[in-house]
Amino acid sequence: MVKIIEMLIPASNKKNRPGTKMNPTSVTIHETDNTNVRANALAHARLQQNGNSRQASWHLSVDDEPEVYQSLPFNEVGYHAGTTSGNYNSIGMEICVNSDGDYKKAVNNAIQTVKWLINKYPSIKAVNVVQHNHWSGKNCPRNLRSGAKGIKWDAFIKGVRDGKKVEASMPAKPPKYTSTTGSIKVGQKVTLKKSAKNYATGESIPSQYKGKSYTVQQRGSNRVLLKELYSWVKTSDISGAAASKPKPKPTATASGSVVDWMKSQRMNSSYANRKKLAGQYGISNYEGTAKQNGQLLAKLKAGKPKQAAPVKKGNQTTSSIVDYLKSINVNSGFSNRKKLAAKHGIKNYSGTAAQNAKLLKNMRG
Ligand SMILES: [Zn+2]
Repeated sequence: MVKIIEMLIPASNKKNRPGTKMNPTSVTIHETDNTNVRANALAHARLQQNGNSRQASWHLSVDDEPEVYQSLPFNEVGYHAGTTSGNYNSIGMEICVNSDGDYKKAVNNAIQTVKWLINKYPSIKAVNVVQHNHWSGKNCPRNLRSGAKGIKWDAFIKGVRDGKKVEASMPAKPPKYTSTTGSIKVGQKVTLKKSAKNYATGESIPSQYKGKSYTVQQRGSNRVLLKELYSWVKTSDISGAAASKPKPKPTATASGSVVDWMKSQRMNSSYANRKKLAGQYGISNYEGTAKQNGQLLAKLKAGKPKQAAPVKKGNQTTSSIVDYLKSINVNSGFSNRKKLAAKHGIKNYSGTAAQNAKLLKNMRG
């Protein structure tokens, strides 16, 4: 008999506990891969509660003792699966592999815990128990997959299904997400349609929230997070997505002076070229305002741009890739870091400290 002990990640830790609601339909099994002595369930729960420097989080940590530690509410998203569909649909469970623990006992406790979850939460309709590997292809749970410690995945699943009250069926295929948020930008105002019924996570939307304008805080593949509601809604339930802030028109007089001067120098004075030159002279976000045109004119008159080291952008002191990405307004979520890692030649990105450090170094330059 296992005993669930709540030791939640503080709600203020948005990096690892985004607070995004979900309706869990599956359980994802992991192994910690941490064989250190005393790297047990409590140690992992403490790590999570104290603020894991890695952007990773899961719901349950299980070892060979009957106490199972819960770090996230079961209806909240964690970052454990390596894919959006996994994170947004699945309860994450880590089985400890500490060298001073009894692995078989830990696996048995994990089986009991999964059975308990299935009985307790009707949204986990069948035995949708999957490996981390199912979502992202990672070799996890390593020992259950290989059978290296004497128990294989088949036996685990057999144990999960070996209960009178547990309905057994094959895992459902995770929903395939096709991106419908392409034209929507973070920071943009959108209107939640009056016809919208449910949040992307399934709960019904109270009528007083409908027909109003909200700010897009984050984009998912087919959903957006609305800042004021702190809730995910389907992109099909929002309107006003195409509207974007018009660019300020260049002021005729100021623009005229730089344009006239450029013409007198037989330079291409088109907006596009001025924007390009502005970039070379360190005038960021050139939009042709009077101030920028004045600056550009002064720089042009002063001569060629210095070929000095490029201006470094973003937070130059942090050792956290997540903080750095935030400082340059780039999505710091795991899946985006994985993409960035691939671009920077980091293979099999799983968010380890070494990989994050390398990614940070490559990106910051
Ligand atoms: Zn895993």
